[in-house]
Amino acid sequence: MPAVPLVTREDALRKIEEQFQLDLPMLKSLSQRFQELYDYGLANHGADMQMIPSFVTGVPNGSEKGTYLALDLGGTNLRVCEVTLDGKGGFTMKQEKYKVSDALKQGPARNLFDYMAQSVDTFLTDFGTASTDDELLLGFTFSFPVEQTALARGHLIHWTKGFNCPDAPGKDVVGLLQESLDRKHIKVRCNALVNDTVGALLAHAYHSNGALISAIFGTGTNGAYIEDISKIKKLKMAEGSIKHMVVNTEWGGFDDDRKALPVTVFDNRLDRESIRPRNHVFEKMISGMYLGELTRHVLVHLIDSLVLFDGFSSVVMNTQNGFDTAYMSAIEADKEEASSPQSATRKVLVETMQIPADKVSAEDVDTVRRVCKIVGTRAARLSSVAIAATLVQTNNVQSRGDGPDEGVKVGMDGSVIEFYPHFEERMREGLRDLLGEDAERRVKIGLAKDGSGVGAALGALQAAKQEASGHRVE
Ligand code: ADP
Ligand code: MG
Repeated sequence: MPAVPLVTREDALRKIEEQFQLDLPMLKSLSQRFQELYDYGLANHGADMQMIPSFVTGVPNGSEKGTYLALDLGGTNLRVCEVTLDGKGGFTMKQEKYKVSDALKQGPARNLFDYMAQSVDTFLTDFGTASTDDELLLGFTFSFPVEQTALARGHLIHWTKGFNCPDAPGKDVVGLLQESLDRKHIKVRCNALVNDTVGALLAHAYHSNGALISAIFGTGTNGAYIEDISKIKKLKMAEGSIKHMVVNTEWGGFDDDRKALPVTVFDNRLDRESIRPRNHVFEKMISGMYLGELTRHVLVHLIDSLVLFDGFSSVVMNTQNGFDTAYMSAIEADKEEASSPQSATRKVLVETMQIPADKVSAEDVDTVRRVCKIVGTRAARLSSVAIAATLVQTNNVQSRGDGPDEGVKVGMDGSVIEFYPHFEERMREGLRDLLGEDAERRVKIGLAKDGSGVGAALGALQAAKQEASGHRVE
């Protein structure tokens, strides 16, 4: 005999829907809060949403030519790239990955940076096409917390992701890299330290002849945009000809004190069990690393309420991070009849999540689809808050000139925006709700892939431009 549920399925689902709903007043208050925290972060050091000045004071327009290198540390491997710009918004790229051993990750910093310099040298010997008679410029994506004080200077705050060279924190990572390159007489100069979100903006600007905003929706979420220098109050700068600077918002940290975000019990549970509780709450409601886990918590709640799978679960379903965000994409794309054995949703539940096949009814398949839609829709609407707030911040809700309106070019990267069905459409619906149809239509979204490769190389190009124009920004 099946167990008797305490609530009906419909009631349970409706309650979840209510908790995850973002109605217009809520969207507006979040957008308002975003504005406040943008201003706060631009004026103060150490804000939760950090608003980090990048020292990049312009973006390419696609007409630039030349060959630049990029070095990317902070993912699974060390990556070296050579990017050749064609001057028409396009480029060719060669790249190679190099393994970083645990001994290097945890030994003296000099060994790690010598290894990076060595990898650049090996890469140039094996694959390099540019003449090595001239000095090559290199953009460095170093995906760890750094306090950047110039385009080519940044001090490591602390290591993350399994790296732990004890003598590196507090040191300038560009200096360390350059010393290693110089010691080996490699004619490469690192002239830019580039965050990958800033790199995405540079990459999209090059590709689309000008971009104003970039946004990442991948493992995490972050955004960058071009800000008026006068509004970056915390940056003490001499009066000069510099008008703009790219700001890395670190918007994953939006509203970490949760004054505005409507967190549900499911968000709180996920947060409590996460590596850094109470940190990046906004990111935990939006990005790929967490959406599947959030969905899993809701499904387990429905199982415990005895309205899903007849109250049966599985080891995988009970395991933290057992439900990947990619499954949500498969489920949201599933157009099969709920009773069909061909249904992707059913396959995920039975084959991947190992829920007993005879416990998965057609109604259960529908329920799981509905839950994914609820969680995914909230993520997309929250994302629209970040984009809308940035449009307001940059005074771009309406066209400014009398000429033809080119709209606002926004470069986006990450598996969630790229692969999650309806994510962009739902984000656009949020933009329409917040700013109206005209503003929403002005937003031109393009994919800006590989901010840490192409983007970093463009950082080296931009740095050279700034050096040539005598703009030294400290
Ligand atoms: P990164 O952020 O490291 O550059 P990605 O942009 O690929 O990498 O994002 C990885 C995240 O995206 C992971 O958390 C993963 O769960 C999620 N993901 C991978 N594939 C998909 C997909 N098809 N749909 C939605 N999310 C996905
Ligand atoms: Mg990425």
